Amino acid sequence: MKLEESVDAYIKKFFDFHRRDAPGGIIGCYMVEYALELLGDRADKLNAVVETRVCLADCVQVMTGCTLGNKYLWLRDEIGKYALTMYDRGTKSGVRVYLDLSRIPRDKYPDLWAFHVRQRDKRVLTDPEFRKEQGKLVVEQFMKLKRDCLSYQRVTVNLPSKEVMLPSRPCIRCGEPFLTEASPEEAVCGPCGGPGSSYYEKA
Ligand SMILES: [Zn+2]
Repeated sequence: MKLEESVDAYIKKFFDFHRRDAPGGIIGCYMVEYALELLGDRADKLNAVVETRVCLADCVQVMTGCTLGNKYLWLRDEIGKYALTMYDRGTKSGVRVYLDLSRIPRDKYPDLWAFHVRQRDKRVLTDPEFRKEQGKLVVEQFMKLKRDCLSYQRVTVNLPSKEVMLPSRPCIRCGEPFLTEASPEEAVCGPCGGPGSSYYEKA
């Protein structure tokens, strides 16, 4: 798939969407560009997988039209790697691109290296000015390497073509419809104590 705009234009779109400073977003936009180029014209039904929630998911969403909402973007953030796969959901064949620590010499690119292993100075969490300066260094060092610190592999994806959609039934306790395998008589949603979970308690 060919991108309609330059990476720089997408980086700007990323920041409009993401709404906060993020060196990972710049790196991520280059990763998406690389993955699409490697995939070439072989994907007419483009899908994506991201292996982390931070930044990368937003790069994919602004650049490719694969989103969480249309389900062409799969979130596999339990893996926790700065990596993504772009693939054709028809053929399941794709390209996985990842930030490759073995291609980042620690002595020459200390801030990019530390960013990748999440070992930056703790002040990035508390001092916004310091965080900004740190972010600049990470980006500067990445821009010297760009694809030279990325690696890729050709992969076959084993995700289903379409996510299975369960039937929707009203909860027998609260009445709110929810997606469940249970029979209509036994449908109890997570927050009402059914299987699954609740992320809130009534205030
Ligand atoms: Zn309920």
